[in-house]
Formats: sequence, structure tokens, C-alpha cells
Amino acid sequence: MSVVQSRRGYFGEFGGSFVPPALQEALDYLEEQFLKYKDDPVFNQEFKFYLKEYVGRENPLTFAARLTERLGGAKIYLKREDLNHTGSHKINNVIGQILLAKRMGAKRVIAETGAGQHGVATATACAMFGMDCTIYMGEEDTRRQALNVFRMELLGAKVVSVSKGQGRLKDAVDEALNDYAQNYEHTFYLLGSAVGPHPYPSIVKHFQSVISEESKRQILEKEGRLPDAVIACVGGGSNAIGAFAHYIDEPSVRLIGVEPEKAATLTKGVPAVIHGFKCLVLLDEEGNPQPTYSIAAGLDYPGIGPEHSYLKVSERAEYYTVTNEEVLEAFQLLSKTEGIIPALESAHTVAYALKLAPTLDRDQIIIVNLSGRGDKDVEQVFHMLNE
Ligand SMILES: *Cc1c(COP(=O)(O)O)cnc(C)c1O
Repeated sequence: MSVVQSRRGYFGEFGGSFVPPALQEALDYLEEQFLKYKDDPVFNQEFKFYLKEYVGRENPLTFAARLTERLGGAKIYLKREDLNHTGSHKINNVIGQILLAKRMGAKRVIAETGAGQHGVATATACAMFGMDCTIYMGEEDTRRQALNVFRMELLGAKVVSVSKGQGRLKDAVDEALNDYAQNYEHTFYLLGSAVGPHPYPSIVKHFQSVISEESKRQILEKEGRLPDAVIACVGGGSNAIGAFAHYIDEPSVRLIGVEPEKAATLTKGVPAVIHGFKCLVLLDEEGNPQPTYSIAAGLDYPGIGPEHSYLKVSERAEYYTVTNEEVLEAFQLLSKTEGIIPALESAHTVAYALKLAPTLDRDQIIIVNLSGRGDKDVEQVFHMLNE
């Protein structure tokens, strides 16, 4: 397979686009359309309209009083992406990309999903906008996540079970890319995280930046100053890049990404090309992407967005791992002290905050990006705690 490398869309040495020519044509067209609409006032008004009326933004920046008291250090604020419709930050990006799809005249949306969360968010917004929706999912994943398959079908999506290869996310990505290369004139490929070939990481960052646009305004209103640190968990990196975006040029704000111990892409990865772009990747001894594992399905990905790869090597952001025990502890502590059950992904963020807050002064401020709510994870945690 010959590969075209575009020079655009690089963050240092990371990013770019390593795809066959037919797909490059589709991506060039997508980039042109994205650049045309991203600063268009009417487009942005429409985006804000749906964020307010459908997603429920702006969501609060909640002061976690009892958790702060308990830890005896920095003040902890929670950015409440868990309160969005469908229960996480994913819907922000989905709404933005569907509006772009509509502007581009697409009648059909395709996406791929591993655990099913991005598939459900996509199917949800497609139902609301009356778009034809096809979700590719590895056969193995459709078995493990049968309830999410049902959710997507309930929302009117067609779920295609991919049995090729190992029947996992990677195989579903390949099928979705094939579909896109063949049908891009009327089909929009809706990518769910800040990964993939250019221009996707920039598109996803653009739409997720609403998180830090709001949190910056909110913290200035509440505290009259910027936070000392912003913390977010990283799977592909979309909630984190959205939570960091408006602070990247504020050197006094520490940007901290948190990874699972067994998917420590940024902590232990090396530069390599996967899924059509260059980033830090966990490789095995033969140079193949390493199987990852996380108790939080949304963090189980061997690569990471190109901009995080760059923020890491340029030392603008810091990335740390937490253990499953620490995550389970954080899951329970936030529930007990604040009455908020976090998603297991977000419990990684909380777990790091539990370590950081006591090392800081009482007048310092941490913003924890609470990427999602934990309803989906309660049964799993029940079983883990009873084993
Ligand atoms: C999908 C998901 C994540 C991980 O994805 P990113 O693209 O890294 O943000 C984190 N938290 C929740 C609640 C998720 O659903």
C-alpha cells in the first residue's frame, strides 16, 4: 500500500497523515471544509445552540468542598462533563462534526467504536439530526458490549459487526476507513478522539475546546485567577486536549494527563506510525503495537493524539500513571464525599488529584476534568469490589 504524507497537521514530529491516496483525497476535502467553517459565525452560533439546548451546556465548575477539606491541600474544582446529555464529553465533538457533515452535504455518517461509548454518542446525535448512521464494531466487542449494541440500534443506527482480523477495534477502524475512502462524497467519517490522520486531531480539539473555554471563564469568575493545575485522563486524548486548550499558552498552569498503568502510552511509548498518523505508541519487542488493558474501556488504546505526544516531549504537559487500586479508591471517595459517581476513566483523574492536592497549599487551585459519569461502570465496580 503506497503512502502519501501530508506536511500539514504536524505537532513537532508528530501527527501528519500516512494513508493511501484515495483516503488522502477525502481528508484533503475534509480539511478544506473544516477550515471554511471553523471560524464561520453562523456555523459557530449553530454549534453553541445545540450545545445549550441538547447537550445542556454550559455545565458547572463545581467546588468539591468536602473532598478539598478531606485532603487538606489545594482547592479542587470539578468540570462537570458528566452532566452532559449521554453522560460524557464525547457528545461535544459529535455535535460539532455532524454539523460539519451537514454543511458538507453528507447524508450518511459512519463511525467505529470499541467499547461502544463513541458509537452511542454518534447514534444519539444522528437520531436527533435525522442522519443515516452506520457504526463499525469488532465482533468480539459486539459480544462483550451487547447492551451498547442494543442502545445504538434503539437509536436507529446500523451496527456492523466486523469479524475480519481479530474482530477488535483496529479491524473496525480498517473497515470504516475503507467505507470512507469509497463513499466520502456523501458519507462523513465521525472520529471520536483526538487521534487519526490530519485533520482529525485538530477538528476534535476545536470542538472539545469548549471545555476549557468555559472552565477558564468560570474559574476567573469564582476565584479571580487561573488554576495552578488542570488534570484530565487520556485515552486517545480528546477530553484532555479540550480541557487543556485554553491554558496551553498560560505557562503558570500545569497541564497534567493521567493514564492507566497498563496503557501508559505517553509515559512509556516511542514515536511510531499507527492508524495513519505518527504519535507515541506502546510497541512490543517486534515493533508491533502492544496490547493494552484498562479497567476503563475508554482508556484502552495503544496510541495517543499527536498533540499530546508533542506536549509530552516538549515538556509543556506532564503525564503520570495511576494503578487500578488507586482508581477504585478514587471512584469510591468522590462518590462518598461529593455525591458524584465518576466514570472509571474520570476516576483516574481524581486518583491523581488525590495525590497532588495534599502537596499543594490551601490557596492553590486544581481543576479536575470530570469527563463522564459512572452509571455505566457501577456493575463492573460492584464485581471488582466483591472479588
Ligand atoms: C471515551 C472516554 C474517555 C477517553 O477518551 P479521550 O478521547 O481520551 O477523552 C475518557 N472519559 C470518558 C468518560 C470517556 O467516555
